[in-house]
Amino acid sequence: MSEKINQEISIVIPLFNEKGSLQELNDKLVDVLTGLNLTYEIVYIDDGSDDGSLDILKQLKVSNQQIKVISLRRNFGKSAALAIGFQECQGDLVVTMDADLQDDPNEIPNLIAKINKGYDLVSGWKKDRKDPLVKLISSKIFNITVASMTGIKLHDFNCGFKIYKKEVVKNINVYGELHRFLPALAHQQGFKVTEVVVKHHARKFDESKYGNLGLGRFTNYLLDPINVILLTKYARKPAHFFGNLGLMFFLLGSGLCLYLTIVWFQGQAIGSRPLLFLGVLFIIIGIQLISMGFLGEIIVRQADKKETRHYIKKII
Ligand code: UDP
Ligand code: MG
Repeated sequence: MSEKINQEISIVIPLFNEKGSLQELNDKLVDVLTGLNLTYEIVYIDDGSDDGSLDILKQLKVSNQQIKVISLRRNFGKSAALAIGFQECQGDLVVTMDADLQDDPNEIPNLIAKINKGYDLVSGWKKDRKDPLVKLISSKIFNITVASMTGIKLHDFNCGFKIYKKEVVKNINVYGELHRFLPALAHQQGFKVTEVVVKHHARKFDESKYGNLGLGRFTNYLLDPINVILLTKYARKPAHFFGNLGLMFFLLGSGLCLYLTIVWFQGQAIGSRPLLFLGVLFIIIGIQLISMGFLGEIIVRQADKKETRHYIKKII
């Protein structure tokens, strides 16, 4: 037997009611992982399943000590489950994948090969995606929007199949529904991000947990990119975001009021002109936004005790 080298890989799998696929997924994974020259652990995060998934995981663990099972108190959502997996895993490389057999464990060696070419995060790209048409379309719109808003040229942000270096998962804060933006958040921290094409299979058991239309996610699709821009570009300088916006309103309002003042000096009545109300409204909105920016700065100063060691690439 060839000797295991000192690198460890963690496979992090969030799951919610996936009892149909767990045994097959685990068999395939163990097959692929034992063929690699790495020490491995598989971390299952049971996100509050009520279909008996946890019992299957417990059985799997009995026969394989490299399996770790984390059971959450209730269904917290995929982002929270991933965040917990990221905290608890130990590997130098961390692969995340869905539990529904749509991601193919045979792709893991390709992900490893790509990340070893000097990247920090390699995202899977389901080029030939086996999902319902509506989902393909909504996903395409989502990906084009996010790519243009964040400036990261990926085709498939929402792919659950990714590989990370340890520094990335230990330093990135995933919450809410932000798992779709992990590449954007990593890129903002200076990590090198790329993508690789991965095989994709149709869902065998049950339906997508988000519904096939993905309509439940629609409003989030609109709000989350704004959220990400705030988090990636302005999280450390809120005064710039709110300040610039506020200044625009303030100047516009002041301009309107100045114009009305001149008119008033020329002897016209301005008390009932709609423009006066608009001018005053803009000034108030402007001052409020600017103040919000300053408040934001104070909060960032107080609360931002975050470790920034991972910004360092090398100390020479
Ligand atoms: N998932 C989860 N918690 C949830 C919803 C989903 O852990 O609240 C898991 C799910 O079990 C699967 C992965 O996240 O392993 C992706 O979910 P799904 O396949 O339903 O999403 P889609 O492939 O349709 O984007
Ligand atoms: Mg799926």
